[in-house]
Amino acid sequence: MSLPPDYSAPADLLTGRNILITGAGDGIGRALAIACAEHGATTLLLGRTTAKLESVYDEIVDAGHPEPGLLPIDLAQLDAARINEVIDAVDTHYGALHGLVHNAALLGDRVPLSHYDTDTWHRLMQVNVNAVFLLTQALLPALERGNDASLIFTSSGVGQKPRAFWGAYAVSKYALEGFATLLADELENTSWTRSNIVNPGATRTSMRARAYPNEDPATLKTTSAVVPLFLYLLGPDSQGIHGQRFDA
Ligand code: NDP
Repeated sequence: MSLPPDYSAPADLLTGRNILITGAGDGIGRALAIACAEHGATTLLLGRTTAKLESVYDEIVDAGHPEPGLLPIDLAQLDAARINEVIDAVDTHYGALHGLVHNAALLGDRVPLSHYDTDTWHRLMQVNVNAVFLLTQALLPALERGNDASLIFTSSGVGQKPRAFWGAYAVSKYALEGFATLLADELENTSWTRSNIVNPGATRTSMRARAYPNEDPATLKTTSAVVPLFLYLLGPDSQGIHGQRFDA
C-alpha cells in the first residue's frame, strides 16, 4: 500500500497524542520526531546518543512545540531495569501512548554469511528484533490506554526478500515483518491498537550512505519526503488501517 495521493497532514493532526519514536536522534527518526511535534504531538525521543536527542529537543522547544521527553537508551543494552524505567516514565508523565514508531536499527556488515562477524550478528538481532519485542510488550498496556493507538514497524526492501550480502540486517528485517504481522493478527479482534509496517525506501541518511558508499546522496529523497506516510499512519486519518505494509 502507499500514502493516499495528495494526502496532506492537517496542522493539528497529532494534538493531544503522545508518540514514542526510537532512533529519534538522527535520520528518518529525527525528521519524524520534529514533524510529529509540528503537528501537535508530545514526542518521547528514544536513542543512544544523548547529545543528538538534546539537539532534537532544542529544535522542538525553540519552535514552540510541545516539550518532548528524553529516553537516552542504548537498545543493545536493553534489560529488565531499563524497560521498567521506560514503563515508569510513560505511566508517570504521560499516562497513555498514542503512537510507537520502531525506527532505530543497525546496518551491520555487507559481507557473505560465511564471513559475518558473530558479535555483530548478535548485536543486530538485539537492536533490530529483540528490543522491538521487549519494548512492544512493555508498552502495549500504555498503547491500549491510548485508544486507536498506532504501532509502526520500520522495515526495508530486504524485509520481504532477503538478498545476498545483507547479512543480519536482512534477516532482522524479515523477522521484524514476521513479528509485526503476527502481532497485527493477535490484535485484530481484541484491540483498537493498530499495527502497520513501513518500508521507507532509499532515503538520504547516514545509514544509506554506509550501505551505498559510492552513491551520490543528492539523487535520493530526503527524510522529509518519507515523513507524511508516518504522520498519516500515526493520526486519525488512517483509522481502521491495520496489518498493512506500506512503501514510502
Ligand atoms: P540512521 O542510521 O540515520 O538513524 C538510525 C537511528 O537509530 C540513529 O538515531 C541511531 O542512533 C539509532 N540507533 C541505532 N542503534 C541504536 C541503539 N542500539 N539504541 C538506540 N538507538 C539506536 O538510519 P535511517 O534513518 O536511515 O533508518 C531509520 C530506519 O529506516 C531504520 O529502521 C532503517 O533500517 C530503515 N530504512 C532506511 C532506509 C534508508 O535508505 N535510509 C531504507 C530502508 C529502511 P545514533 O545516531 O546515536 O547512532
